[in-house]
Amino acid sequence: MVKEAQYLVRLWLMRTGYAAITLPPFGIYILKERMNEEVLRKHELVHWEQYKKLGVIGFYAKYIYYRIKYGYWAHPMEVEARQP
Ligand SMILES: [Zn+2]
Repeated sequence: MVKEAQYLVRLWLMRTGYAAITLPPFGIYILKERMNEEVLRKHELVHWEQYKKLGVIGFYAKYIYYRIKYGYWAHPMEVEARQP
């Protein structure tokens, strides 16, 4: 499910400064030049597990709600994905 980000996804990542994005149910998209980073890959796989627990709608609903409420760094799903 880990894929190289291309076209619009790549453009979006470049513009926002992120290296990867998890887009259920499609997959995990990582910039070609960051594909070998194990920490990044593990981070996105935690998001994939969150999606598996919550389902597609649950994942996006919770993610967007928390994003508005907490921003990025304090976002509980991001905090979980950042644990070593
Ligand atoms: Zn994340």
